[in-house]
Amino acid sequence: MITGGGRGIGAATARMAGQRGFQVCVNYVRDAGSAREVVQDIEAAGAKAIAVQADVADEDAVLRLFETVDRELGPLTALVNNAGILETQMRVEEMGADRLARIFNTNVVGSMLCAREAIRRMSQRHGGVGGVIVNVSSAAARLGSPGEYVDYAASKGAIDTLTLGLAQEVARDGIRVAGVRPGFIDTDIHGDGGEPDRLERVKHAIPMGRGGRPEEVAQAILWLLSDEASYATGSILDVAGGR
Ligand code: NAP
Repeated sequence: MITGGGRGIGAATARMAGQRGFQVCVNYVRDAGSAREVVQDIEAAGAKAIAVQADVADEDAVLRLFETVDRELGPLTALVNNAGILETQMRVEEMGADRLARIFNTNVVGSMLCAREAIRRMSQRHGGVGGVIVNVSSAAARLGSPGEYVDYAASKGAIDTLTLGLAQEVARDGIRVAGVRPGFIDTDIHGDGGEPDRLERVKHAIPMGRGGRPEEVAQAILWLLSDEASYATGSILDVAGGR
């Protein structure tokens, strides 16, 4: 299950997961067309995939999302908590409660609701066979995003804490929990902040001198999902070009 799997990092992860033999649930919230394209690509690669609309911030929708996977794909083995949003760049003194609620409900509450549903299915404590959760954080959790979106950065700080705490909580239940902290990655999200060409502006501040590609983050997520990472839990991997 990849939340926000229709575009950007989630779409790259979904396609790569399909290539590696996973059956994939591509969750999306609005853009059905992009999610359908991802599903078609996975099917063309010979794996099974479904696209399921659900807002991860809506508890009833999350319940339906996981029930659909139970029914159509069988027992869940892996969750990538990737769905995440940011809003127009502004200083904290301009931010309203509505915006803060949207950011934290999607990025933090959504990830925790999905983690809960995954644990209820995967945990050996509940008769499951174990599994892996990968949370997509951001380098913003370390850097704070001053003048742009401190709210978003703070929500990603919460995601890192979720990874640390949950990893220890379920470590003896057969579940690993890990995180990735991408840096500047070439996706549509920067347009949502009001600056589609943000990578061009900031690339000189990145030690590697360039933004990353979604596939470069997907590789890290797929490694954390794999048995090659069998002793990695509570680990948060920076994929940020040295930043
Ligand atoms: P993106 O291109 O904007 O894609 C976001 C995806 O999340 C879309 O598929 C979108 O669905 C989905 N989504 C948004 N809100 C949702 C909700 N409430 N419920 C379900 N799905 C929802 O973003 P991205 O850059 O790939 O970002 C993916 C993750 O990486 C996010 O958590 C982001 O914070 C993190 N990240 C990104 C960067 C970067 O530079 N790009 C850096 C660090 C971390 P629709 O397609 O239906 O709209």
